Amino acid sequence: MIALAPRRLSITDNSSAAGAILTVDLSAIRANYRLLAGCLKRAACGAVVKADAYGLGAAHVAPILYREGCRHFFVAHFEEGLALQTVLPPGVSIFILNGLPFGWEKVCAETGLIPVINSIEQLNAWTAEARRASRILPAALQIDSGMARLGLAASDVNLIAAEPERLAGLALRLVMSHLACADDPGNGANRVQLEAFRSLRARLPAAPAALANSAGIFLGPDYHFDLARPGAALYGLRPVAGASNPMHPAVRLDARIIQIREISEGTPVGYGHSWRATRPSWIATISVGYADGWLRSLGNRGAVYFEGVRMPIVGRISMDSITADATAIGPKRLSPGGLVELIGPHQPVDDVAEQAGTIGYEILTNLGCRYYRNYLDA
Ligand SMILES: *Cc1c(COP(=O)(O)O)cnc(C)c1O
Repeated sequence: MIALAPRRLSITDNSSAAGAILTVDLSAIRANYRLLAGCLKRAACGAVVKADAYGLGAAHVAPILYREGCRHFFVAHFEEGLALQTVLPPGVSIFILNGLPFGWEKVCAETGLIPVINSIEQLNAWTAEARRASRILPAALQIDSGMARLGLAASDVNLIAAEPERLAGLALRLVMSHLACADDPGNGANRVQLEAFRSLRARLPAAPAALANSAGIFLGPDYHFDLARPGAALYGLRPVAGASNPMHPAVRLDARIIQIREISEGTPVGYGHSWRATRPSWIATISVGYADGWLRSLGNRGAVYFEGVRMPIVGRISMDSITADATAIGPKRLSPGGLVELIGPHQPVDDVAEQAGTIGYEILTNLGCRYYRNYLDA
């Protein structure tokens, strides 16, 4: 008797079976890094790769940025930092923006990851670990310069200034703050935060400083300090609201048509019958839904494109599919199995976001895990 091994069908490498294909253009991300670094002159250009590089895949993105010369990486969570260490050479600086969860100081000290200290409690826990282990530990200090989100208040900075031994055992690798209104260059809050950051950091021991996110880089050299922390612009999002976008688009999303049907005038489409045909129409059902991050707010608002022709989304967004009005194209040119563009040259991420009532960041970080992912690098 011959025991037969169960046959397993592997389709994971077959994009033609996928409901939708996400293409990430790594060479565009490289070009964006070079463009941002070129704006900076003296300051170094870091990279924010939190939330899996804004949904695009930190394991792919971080190494190519390293090859472009990036040596400072930022993530939000400790575990993101651990994952990043496995894809980057030793010696890079990986900062944990949200700081450490209490109780994880000993583990973190062994990794070399750099916690961003946001409060006196976090500072005390980190210096206590330095004492316990008799080691000098790397640290970044975040100052709240006017956002009331994360970071040391002015009174905390004054406390440290008055009692510098509070930093004993730490190698201060960065003093940073974050801008609340950087994407709105005319907003006076930017200058106010800049002045607050300047005066507060001057009370701390000398260390490299960082203030600018993507949009902050475009506020000009006053905001650059020693290191910039762009995220969004690396991934092609428009850094300054209302202005033209100098960045290279890095994402393309194409989804498959799974059915085409002809309906008569008055026929309702989708959940809740929220749309009705006002003329005989062709409806294409497409294999992407809110479970893939195609937000439900795009129902009866958004569109997809076929060879540059707009097909309005009609009816609600379902979990796994959407319906679009294909009447302008008709059944001769469309067929099940074909692809339509959801994000691409006819519809950049920022435009999708606007139609969905959100920002490009939310569209990217919601990109689904069911997509076939295609990474291009020239
Ligand atoms: C997310 C984040 C950034 C990156 O901001 P972008 O607008 O994506 O460039 C920079 N700094 C901090 C503290 C952040 O949380």
